[in-house]
Amino acid sequence: MKITAIETIHNKKFSNLVWVKIHTDEGLTGLGETFRNPNSIISYIHESCAPYLLGKDPLRINEHADNLLNWTANRYVGYPTRSVEYRGNSAIDIALWDLKAKSSNLKLVDILGGPCRDKIPIYNTCAASGYNWNANSSSRLVSELKSNQNKETYDDLELQTQNPGDLAQSLLDEGIKAMKIWPFDEFAFITKGQTISSEDLKKGINRIKKIRDAVGSKIDIMLEYHSLWQLAPALKIAKHVDEFDVFWHEDPINMAHLKDLAEFKQNTIAPTAGSEALGTALWYRDALSLGAIDYMHYDLGWIGGITEAIKISGIAHGNNRMMCPHDCTGPVVWIANLHISLAYPNVMILESVRSFYNGFYKTLVDNLPEIQNGFAMPMKGIGLGVDLHSSLIASQDTTKKITTSSDI
Ligand SMILES: [Mg+2]
Repeated sequence: MKITAIETIHNKKFSNLVWVKIHTDEGLTGLGETFRNPNSIISYIHESCAPYLLGKDPLRINEHADNLLNWTANRYVGYPTRSVEYRGNSAIDIALWDLKAKSSNLKLVDILGGPCRDKIPIYNTCAASGYNWNANSSSRLVSELKSNQNKETYDDLELQTQNPGDLAQSLLDEGIKAMKIWPFDEFAFITKGQTISSEDLKKGINRIKKIRDAVGSKIDIMLEYHSLWQLAPALKIAKHVDEFDVFWHEDPINMAHLKDLAEFKQNTIAPTAGSEALGTALWYRDALSLGAIDYMHYDLGWIGGITEAIKISGIAHGNNRMMCPHDCTGPVVWIANLHISLAYPNVMILESVRSFYNGFYKTLVDNLPEIQNGFAMPMKGIGLGVDLHSSLIASQDTTKKITTSSDI
């Protein structure tokens, strides 16, 4: 089998997302996805990846992952993680794995070694319709929320501040027993994370307290900091919220500062989770050697795709740590995370966004995992078990670009 074309698909209504389709001479295709700065990623894929991949055997995934990272011009500029190069490579890698599984007539979970479980518990990231969709706007801050005009999906982002107790109860009513919120983010933007006032600290804490007042300890609370804080204020916040038995502190500081992170972890009660943006195998090696993290949450679309996740899984196994794949981005990465979560026993929980999987994900893809009583169930089809929705492909807002060997 040979790769005959590399296609990117982009829709301006959901402009942070980029999809990659790898086409072959046998008619099989593979689907991948990544997120943020789409135009740069699309340029990179067509300019740098397509000339390398065209004509190659798509099943030699390990070789392609190594070459795209280390043996092309990318090696000089594509490090560290989160770069355009890493994100483009990630989308390609996911597509190659989808293709490889399809070529064997197997589900992705099956070529990863087969399932170790039949379902995986999810936690709900309390985002909302529109959150993070568009490349040209910053994420909505909690403080900027306006009443949601579109009630077709949950506005868990608004509920985080307006009624966190009801939010927690509504999740429990669906069988979801863990939730992630970011009640302090808006205050970080005031001081660029250098300090937090007592008044703002109390406002944030009160949102957590309302959850405990409403549902007691029935729900786990993952606390997200989005790497916005310096060490001192992050510690101050963490020490105050530890009394509410939060489940973890996620990305509390700039996660490149591993010594600071180790200091943070040593001085707080709840475990520390890291890091969706930096979490390659290399980063985990260093973070774990310094005792800087407990839970490993990485983003397949940012750290090199499934090939890198397999390496991370080995590190997690060797260090006796649990993985919790990240997603608050798109459906293809979420589904790839599900396959990994079913395959590897050291995955603990799957990040999920109910306002996404009950909302816009349905317009993007033809299949989504069933969510039953707080658990994600396996996909049914071969490969990832998902393709882009025909209406997305047909949309006037969708742009496709294809590179074939005649273009280079
Ligand atoms: Mg996060």
